[in-house]
Amino acid sequence: MVEIREVKELPKREEVRVGFHTHIKGLGLDEKGKAKKVADGLVGQEEAREALGVVAQMVKEGKMAGKGVLIVGPPGTGKTALAVGLAKELGEDTPFVAMGGSEIMGSQRKGELLMQAMRRSIGVRVKEKRTVYEGVVRDIKYRVSRHPFNPYIKVPREAVITLETTDDRVTLTVDEDIAVQLRQLGVRKGDIIAIDAETGRVYKLGRAREESDVGGIKLVREVKVPEGPVKKEKEIVYTLTLHDLDTYFAAQQAPISLLAGLGPESVTDEVRKQVDKMVSEWVKQGRAELVPGVLFIDDAHLLDLETFSFLSRAMEKELAPIIVLATNRGKAKIRGTDEEAPHGIPLDMLDRLLIIRTRPYTRSEIEEILKIRAEEEGVKLSKEALEKLAEMGEARSLRYAINLLQPAYTIAKMNGRDVVAPEDVEEATRKFVDVRESVKYVEQFKDKFL
Ligand code: ATP
Repeated sequence: MVEIREVKELPKREEVRVGFHTHIKGLGLDEKGKAKKVADGLVGQEEAREALGVVAQMVKEGKMAGKGVLIVGPPGTGKTALAVGLAKELGEDTPFVAMGGSEIMGSQRKGELLMQAMRRSIGVRVKEKRTVYEGVVRDIKYRVSRHPFNPYIKVPREAVITLETTDDRVTLTVDEDIAVQLRQLGVRKGDIIAIDAETGRVYKLGRAREESDVGGIKLVREVKVPEGPVKKEKEIVYTLTLHDLDTYFAAQQAPISLLAGLGPESVTDEVRKQVDKMVSEWVKQGRAELVPGVLFIDDAHLLDLETFSFLSRAMEKELAPIIVLATNRGKAKIRGTDEEAPHGIPLDMLDRLLIIRTRPYTRSEIEEILKIRAEEEGVKLSKEALEKLAEMGEARSLRYAINLLQPAYTIAKMNGRDVVAPEDVEEATRKFVDVRESVKYVEQFKDKFL
């Protein structure tokens, strides 16, 4: 059940982690489709971003039908990040689904997994009148506790959130269900959100605060703060995926005794057909519109012929997500055959793909990405510490440097500092090795194991 309490007293603050790509808000292009060096949370990769901008335009004009995208480039050059940027560029509520080639090939039920991924990546934007709490987030604090089955994971138990409009200010204590949604949506100060008073569903409506950095001076600008009371009746627009609807209807039709064990596998073709029929009815009535999302498949060289033909057929359909494949392989054998092909991808599939390249980052780009991630994760870095981390990112990998942000911050605090110093970064790199080092380390003992 949903619970929302309005309270005055605020519980103790504890930070909760944010997702890996939450800082990305779009492709960061100007009106002419040229990439700005740093914009929408993206840094560098101008060529790839501009190419994806063309793809986004083609999607809007319905010209991507039957086509897909292939991003090629070395590991850790932001292929996933760029695909997220494409989805965001198409609209904040555009579904984004990421999968890996090995995950697909390792599945016992490939067909079902792919079908589900397709339906997760197609959105249905619905309009409805609801009673909501709506306002700018002025403060948000989570109370976390340990996961019931895994004491090492912290889950939000409650959140206390202060919402403000031009004429009203309300502090709400919301239950776990809502707190989890707030966290998943990456809600932060300055976001405009609405919480359905009845169902507890959270909607992210945009930002009231614009922040920009001009020559090291941070500018914060207030724009579009909602008016009226915080609690009100409102036409709300929200986006579900076809898969959300599938599971919802499957659950409704299942006998109660089966509900306990109900997983996505209880969605049958019959249910999917019914959902499609209902959605097309909504669309006709003007109550809903369809939003094709992005289905991203990394390590596409691992896929087999069967999977490629599934994807080709999916691309042909009237209602299809934008399929973005990625790989870091050049020539490779097509899985399950003796045939070599560019990127291990069959030629008839390659013919449908627009190919985009990513390139390794420069030191200053790595520094810029680290700066954005540090801000997103609430980590305070000194200029020298940031430089040290960027150096690490260049020498090892960007991912390693980003993974060191939180440990370095924790070490700084243990050393009695509020801002990470270069010594803290050094200590973190001594304590935590990167993958290359960890592999080398155990390899040197290999002989002993034989
Ligand atoms: P790939 O898919 O090519 O392996 P990725 O997208 O997973 O790469 P990583 O290098 O692992 O990228 O990214 C580490 C972090 O850096 C992530 O948080 C990612 O969002 C971010 N990132 C990567 N490239 C960029 C970029 N060009 N601009 C901003 N953030 C980026």
